[in-house]
Amino acid sequence: MSTPKTVGNEHGYLCPNCDKGTELLIAASKRISLILKQDGFAIDDESEVEWANYSHVDCLLCGWEGAVRDLLKVKMGPRAESQIGSNKREAS
Ligand SMILES: [Zn+2]
Repeated sequence: MSTPKTVGNEHGYLCPNCDKGTELLIAASKRISLILKQDGFAIDDESEVEWANYSHVDCLLCGWEGAVRDLLKVKMGPRAESQIGSNKREAS
């Protein structure tokens, strides 16, 4: 096993070219709901950001371009595991 990497984002995505996840730019879309009124409309602020596997991604670190499905995906949730591991040393 290699040492745990700092992924750089909470989704566990890594650039397949430079192996970093700190400067990934996903072309996501924001769904906006309009509330129609007599004198126009209001924008519902509970809008959701969403992207799909085919959404375009730029890596600002190395210039790689691709889709979300091309990103490396790191299994998330090892934070607790690594904390335990750093406190405990096993005598081989
Ligand atoms: Zn990159």
